[in-house]
Amino acid sequence: MDFLVLFIGYIMSFVIGSILYYFRDSQTLNTGVVGYIKRTLGQICISLAPKVLIKWLNDTANAVLTSSNPFMQIMFCLMVLLGHSILVIDVLPYLFVYDPDGDHITLPIIFCFANFFFMHLSCYPDPGEITSKNQKYFMSLYKSDGVLYHPDAFCKTCKIVRPPRSKHCSTCKKCVHRFDHHCVWTNNCVAGFNQRWFILYLLSVCIMCGNGTYMTYKCLCLIVRSKKLMDTQYIDPNTREVHPITLYILIQHLFMEYPHTMFLLFALPSVIILLGSLAAYHIYLVTTNQTTNERYKLYDIVQKSKLDNKDPHIINDIQSMRPFNKGLWKNIQEVIFPRRQLNKLFHKRQR
Ligand SMILES: [Zn+2]
Ligand SMILES: [Zn+2]
Repeated sequence: MDFLVLFIGYIMSFVIGSILYYFRDSQTLNTGVVGYIKRTLGQICISLAPKVLIKWLNDTANAVLTSSNPFMQIMFCLMVLLGHSILVIDVLPYLFVYDPDGDHITLPIIFCFANFFFMHLSCYPDPGEITSKNQKYFMSLYKSDGVLYHPDAFCKTCKIVRPPRSKHCSTCKKCVHRFDHHCVWTNNCVAGFNQRWFILYLLSVCIMCGNGTYMTYKCLCLIVRSKKLMDTQYIDPNTREVHPITLYILIQHLFMEYPHTMFLLFALPSVIILLGSLAAYHIYLVTTNQTTNERYKLYDIVQKSKLDNKDPHIINDIQSMRPFNKGLWKNIQEVIFPRRQLNKLFHKRQR
């Protein structure tokens, strides 16, 4: 198969796979032509694959994604290790040879440590657990808006009245303050107390991958320059004619000669696009004082209102409601200093 077809196929399957995974709950992807294609492909895969394999995949995915376990954390660490191994084995030796005066070590080490530091803060400290002891403080933080949150919502598992903006996480098995979502990569909830660390974790992955992309690109440029690859020629296999090298042939040659380095050059920007857009989405949520959980809830309410044939103006009002918005600066402060408000309440009651 032609190299270009394989390459485009790889990029397309990565992009489509990512969209299907990240937007798996989206109405657009589950209805109409897209939904039909998705369902048909799913049925074809299921009918072709052995039943034992499907059962094993289902059980494994359920065990990994719906229970508290460190599997995805280990996977992330292995991916970071793989990326750095390629960097050390395939990229750094060339950088040291072709650019001996440059510092190629300090930044990757700083970025890697920063990433693990923010990952640790996203994974382990309390995201905002609500217990019967601290529930009264969380109760006074927000008022029920009557649409997204109703007063006296009771959690049967924790046996407490759930404060507005909190949710019971079925994976962590606890009610969590200002719940955003449960992240399988950190094996922890993203919520009131750790959303800031989660955003910094995402950004640190992007910066680490950005630096890796730059180092890989620089390495390949140095190889091309030092080996004078742009001055070479190639023989057309069909006509046997000799032509000056083109960019397409050069990329193909680099893929054959330096497959690991080329893999990094395309894989790292893909990670930046995925996690960078997730970080941008979270920054948008912070600035408007919303959570992912609230966005989903709002979406469901709007869909239900449309089915009930409610007035379009009312639907529009619901769609644009931001009941907890306090203005840009206060919204940001709420995420950067999540305990400030709680501490104030605590000290007030102590007096
Ligand atoms: Zn609960
Ligand atoms: Zn959770």
